[in-house]
Amino acid sequence: MLDDGELGGKFRQFPLSPPVLKAIHDMGWREPSEIQSLVIPLALTGRDVVGQAKTGTGKTGAFAIPCVERFRAREAAGQRGRSPVVLVLAPTRELAVQVHDQFDHLSGHARMRSVAIYGGAPMEPQLRALREGADVVVGTPGRVMDHVRRGTLRLDAIQCLVLDEADRMFDLGFRDDIYWISRRLPSEGRQTLLLSATIAGEVLKLAQEVTSDPELVYTAPEGTDLTVNTVEQFYVAVDPERKLDLLVRLIEDEAPEKGMVFTRTKRGADKVAEKLRQRGQDAGEIHGDLKQKRREQILESFREGGLHLMVCTDVAARGLDIQGVTHIFNFDVPENPEDYVHRVGRTARMGKRGRAFTFVTREDGDAVTPIEKLINKEIPRFAIDGFRAQANEDERAASTVGRAAGLADHPLAKKLSPALLAILNERRGRGGPTRGGPRPGGGGGGRDRACGGGGGGRDRGRGGRR
Ligand code: ADP
Repeated sequence: MLDDGELGGKFRQFPLSPPVLKAIHDMGWREPSEIQSLVIPLALTGRDVVGQAKTGTGKTGAFAIPCVERFRAREAAGQRGRSPVVLVLAPTRELAVQVHDQFDHLSGHARMRSVAIYGGAPMEPQLRALREGADVVVGTPGRVMDHVRRGTLRLDAIQCLVLDEADRMFDLGFRDDIYWISRRLPSEGRQTLLLSATIAGEVLKLAQEVTSDPELVYTAPEGTDLTVNTVEQFYVAVDPERKLDLLVRLIEDEAPEKGMVFTRTKRGADKVAEKLRQRGQDAGEIHGDLKQKRREQILESFREGGLHLMVCTDVAARGLDIQGVTHIFNFDVPENPEDYVHRVGRTARMGKRGRAFTFVTREDGDAVTPIEKLINKEIPRFAIDGFRAQANEDERAASTVGRAAGLADHPLAKKLSPALLAILNERRGRGGPTRGGPRPGGGGGGRDRACGGGGGGRDRGRGGRR
């Protein structure tokens, strides 16, 4: 007999019904995989989810478990009809069969019928299975279309659409079929779950068209983990006015085969890319304000190796699966430590090596310690021979003028007296507290991560590590 206290193991953290927990238990699963931990609770709320996960990471369970729960709830409410409520589109017959099997197992003792329909097999058994009534249909797009055209598969009761391995479906030329099918599904009250190893280009477009306000879930691809062991990571202390020179110097020294430069804002990405181009570097930028077509062109060129540097915002780069990225430059420190992990995860894919540099200025405060805590690893300081990290008077003055211009442009500036504006500009020019950036003469406060004199003697929070 099963010990009920253990039924479903760590799957008990989700609000799943006892029969589903038992079915999970019977399959020998004791704890959810990463993608399952992320997708199941979201999908159970009925929200649309777009999830990135590689093949073999437990994706099927991630979408099948919430689908089975949904079916059970309908059945319990006496709302079971004759038409299928779940439609799963999969790229190959093998996958369709595999997914169908998992639905079968997960439904446990529920009277849920799953049918697999795919090309290259006789129609008759599939027709019979559909006639007998299917709650879940798992199929390849072409064969699903066939059945819909013949009137042997009705889509008007579909409550949940799953697109499995969406990127592979595009690779295999199912693009138009997927759109054809999705146009024939009820849009009211439908949940859509899209899973793909990569979420970019066509897949992103599809996600935008077929989902509504989706939650985006991203898991680290195989070959990387949170501690990103194959990435050498450093931080460099620098004054804001010297960041661009630092970037150019590092690009010259490191000669990245493919480098990604991260900025916090879209404007920042535009500016940095433009300045890199002025300095003779082949850089392109991607962010949400660019037309999809332009983004795709830049991405394609970066993928193919025509472009060596890509400047991007966190949102634009999330989930991108680009082989051969050798360097990450965090021109601006990430807004939060999780973003750091996503950024650095763009390199050293599939066990390859990479290097990541994070620029830290005095305005960033101690941005590195929380990252170190998250990745459970110390990020050493990187010293560059002969590079001047501190801005000189001229550079400071130039940036003060630039900032002053920026402030004067601000809509609120019109409401300020010229005297107050001058004081604000002066403060901005001074740059505020000096916790992060380099300072002439070094030494100084013991907790300063990046004094000019060389980071002496600071315990960077080892005690706080996991
Ligand atoms: P994907 O859909 O990502 O390619 P699958 O869902 O086919 O991956 O899962 C790969 C294998 O791992 C399958 O054999 C599946 O039964 C098994 N599996 C999935 N989730 C779990 C889990 N939580 N615990 C143990 N094994 C699991």
